[in-house]
Amino acid sequence: MDNNQSLEYDVVIMGAGFAGLCQARHLKLNIPNIKIALIDPRSEQQQAKDLKVGESLVEVASLFLFKELGLHEYLIENHVPKIGLNFHWPKSLEKTADIEDYYHIWTNRQPPIVSFQINRVKFERDLLKMNQTAGIAFHKGYVVDVALTPGDAIKTVDVKVGSEKITLKAKHIIDAAGRKFIIGRKTDNLLFGSENLFGLNNGATWMRVKNVDRNIFHDGYDPEGSTGSHYYATNHYFGHGHWLWMIPIDTQAMELSIGIMHHHDVIPAKHINTQDKFLAFLRENHNILYRLIESGEKVDFHYRPQVAHRSKTMFSPDNWYVIGDAACIFDAFYSLGTTMIAFAIESVTEIIQAKLANAADAEQKRSAYNEFNVAYTRSVNILYRDHAKQLGHASIMSWRIYFEYMWWFGVIVPLYVGKWHLDLEFINLFVKNLNSNVDGIFPELYKQFNQLVERGTNIGLLDCYRADQLIWDYYTPKHFDNFLENAKLEPLHCNVFAGLKNTCFYAALWYAMFQWRGFGIQGILNLRHLYQFFRLLALSVQAAVGELIYKSRIKGLPTNSQIEKMRQEFKSYQYRPELRPWISELSSQAEVSSGLESQEVNQVENPELSMLR
Ligand SMILES: Cc1cc2nc3c(=O)[nH]c(=O)nc-3n(C[C@H](O)[C@H](O)[C@H](O)COP(=O)(O)OP(=O)(O)OC[C@H]3O[C@@H](n4cnc5c(N)ncnc54)[C@H](O)[C@@H]3O)c2cc1C
Repeated sequence: MDNNQSLEYDVVIMGAGFAGLCQARHLKLNIPNIKIALIDPRSEQQQAKDLKVGESLVEVASLFLFKELGLHEYLIENHVPKIGLNFHWPKSLEKTADIEDYYHIWTNRQPPIVSFQINRVKFERDLLKMNQTAGIAFHKGYVVDVALTPGDAIKTVDVKVGSEKITLKAKHIIDAAGRKFIIGRKTDNLLFGSENLFGLNNGATWMRVKNVDRNIFHDGYDPEGSTGSHYYATNHYFGHGHWLWMIPIDTQAMELSIGIMHHHDVIPAKHINTQDKFLAFLRENHNILYRLIESGEKVDFHYRPQVAHRSKTMFSPDNWYVIGDAACIFDAFYSLGTTMIAFAIESVTEIIQAKLANAADAEQKRSAYNEFNVAYTRSVNILYRDHAKQLGHASIMSWRIYFEYMWWFGVIVPLYVGKWHLDLEFINLFVKNLNSNVDGIFPELYKQFNQLVERGTNIGLLDCYRADQLIWDYYTPKHFDNFLENAKLEPLHCNVFAGLKNTCFYAALWYAMFQWRGFGIQGILNLRHLYQFFRLLALSVQAAVGELIYKSRIKGLPTNSQIEKMRQEFKSYQYRPELRPWISELSSQAEVSSGLESQEVNQVENPELSMLR
């Protein structure tokens, strides 16, 4: 039956997974009167079969959920804490039954920005309920077609709800329907294939298992190794052409998500695409994970032959937007899926807010945010270039992770905290430098890593968390601005330039050390290497100049307005050594009964005394 019911909204969001649900909540919190419709065929009461990957959050996604969506309490009460990310490489191919059989990079402490490992079924079910309570309309149905019109013209979305068809209308349409690619296919916006993805050609296999015996991994007793739990971290295991994740997603059911990201050049799909093959692979190559799985009850199994794709445009001038898997995904190695979503959501909200208000800079914002998000996701893509060749090499991968983490903690995290990704002037400069790194130093380094892997060189295990590898107690998660201590959480309050300046400086030192260890004096004196070394130093100087300008602009501004307001108010504070009376003169009756109560209390408190009386 087609009853042609027509419903009008400001925004229609197709897909109520992580991206769609978070986008809806973010829009509603920032534009309270906005009319939003969410469409998804899945039941409000999701089942175990609806389990999805995308469980491990990192700093940006966590801060987004805590700060922008107000979900920190919810996460504490319902999801699993994450004590960082650990990396493990087998010491020998033959022996992998115990964690001692691996070399490690352990997160040896609780990271300063706490994070979570979310149970996606629970998260999406709860967030949908919160959204409905907040007044967001939910249509349980399939989008069957969307008519994309130019500019601000009304777009229509046809939805099949049971046996009926409804048509939703809105000026803004967001595709968050994951790999259905509703807008991507309609607009020829998607890029697949390793030739479009810096050579990436990966597949993924994963399963869930509950009631595991976590002592098989670690018994939790490590008095001299760490101040945090090893099990309640995300744990990555490595080998030739693959890495594996182990993520706890429920503390009561002792449930784990375990999966492999494999590169087809090394491990073809047909060797890993069934549960039996996956378990056989683990039994032989990561026996500890096999033992963990066998200790519990298997919940589900999935295989995805092709993981990666990207979009040419993320936010169109025609008011359509692609976010989440509908836009791009590359590899889950650094758990950046939800981070890319967080950046995109904040951009989309800004654009829609500007457009609804007919702001003069609305189109400028759309164009700049599109450019930033496309460039940022491209910089995520490059992080997986040549993984197929390097993942299994503990020494080279440890150096690679160290280098990549420098940029994450030193630049991307403060950039996000300061909302610099929404500042038009900053984006312009940042995107240029980002693109030139993605096309310059990163691929050049990956080529050099390949050479060292081919030669079988061991240049030591570099531990990104420890402060004893580079000079001046540097470690990659180090902050160069006191944005956490002083809650510099308002836009542009966090000094991103300090992060840029120091990261470029330490990256130059890392680069020189790498050339020396990897290639000796020839590596140091190579003209191209000298150019990259001095380019990093020049970028550091450029950031230092930027920092001076920034500091002059913010001179006199409080680090945090709420604190400043309270400090001002506190100036009139005066201590009064008094209390407000709480026993009424009129209630003599109450005094009598209160006396009786105190006698009774004494009797209860001291029953032996009462027996003697
Ligand atoms: C193996 C693997 C591991 C990963 N691990 C991590 C990780 O640890 N951390 C991390 O941050 N990211 C991770 N990611 C990425 C992460 O999974 C994704 O970024 C995230 O799940 C994308 O969410 P989404 O909402 O875009 O898509 P989805 O979660 O797929 O949601 C899409 C929604 O659209 C709905 N839908 C489908 N068709 C229609 C239709 N026709 N009409 C209406 N609705 C429709 C679906 O029912 C679904 O609810 C991983 C990815 C992979 C492949």
